[in-house]
Amino acid sequence: MQAARLLIVGPQGSGKGTQGARIGDLLGVPAISTGDVFRAAIKDGSELGAKVQSVIDAGDLVSDDLTFEVVRDRLQQPDAAGGFLLDGFPRNLAQVALLDGYLAERDEPLTAVIELGVARAVSIARIAERAREQGRTDDTEDAIAKRLSIYERETAPILDVYRERGLVDTIDGVGSLETVTARILGALAARGIARPAAA
Ligand code: ADP
Repeated sequence: MQAARLLIVGPQGSGKGTQGARIGDLLGVPAISTGDVFRAAIKDGSELGAKVQSVIDAGDLVSDDLTFEVVRDRLQQPDAAGGFLLDGFPRNLAQVALLDGYLAERDEPLTAVIELGVARAVSIARIAERAREQGRTDDTEDAIAKRLSIYERETAPILDVYRERGLVDTIDGVGSLETVTARILGALAARGIARPAAA
């Protein structure tokens, strides 16, 4: 058995938030979404929220240092001691280096990286639907276009780094929620990552 120290990576609209939460639940580890943390901070009117709101609404990335601070604090919570699933972090090579440093200090390397793939047309259609349903303030046409291009330019390259380490499982993100979840669980099980048997 391997601990579940996981990343889920995929373009906007790939369903990584939804699948990340499901996989976290099924494996008994917290799914930590930096986007969700930021959105909650904005909603609460906290200092963090005030710092990030305009950046997020424009579709730009929050600074690496601030984002890493948020992730590090969250990983230090007791529920993440046995494993975690990070959704939305790291998002560029600088963030990979920050995460590597943190995990190396603890001697707790990542155990798998789930790459959730969907065609661009599918992801655009899904975001349009989400914009209608959830009214996210960063789901405007301009912000979406910017986020997709940041994904292609800055985030996709992080997969090459993890691929070289033999960590990446590429999962087809098109299919029912259950089908995609089953694909991910299957790939993780092949690495010896599964929910621990109830004690
Ligand atoms: P999406 O994947 O659709 O862009 P997220 O919920 O993952 O949605 O992120 C929403 C926004 O939060 C991003 O556009 C960015 O401004 C900010 N954000 C999230 N994660 C990071 C990160 N790792 N680094 C910098 N900014 C981030």
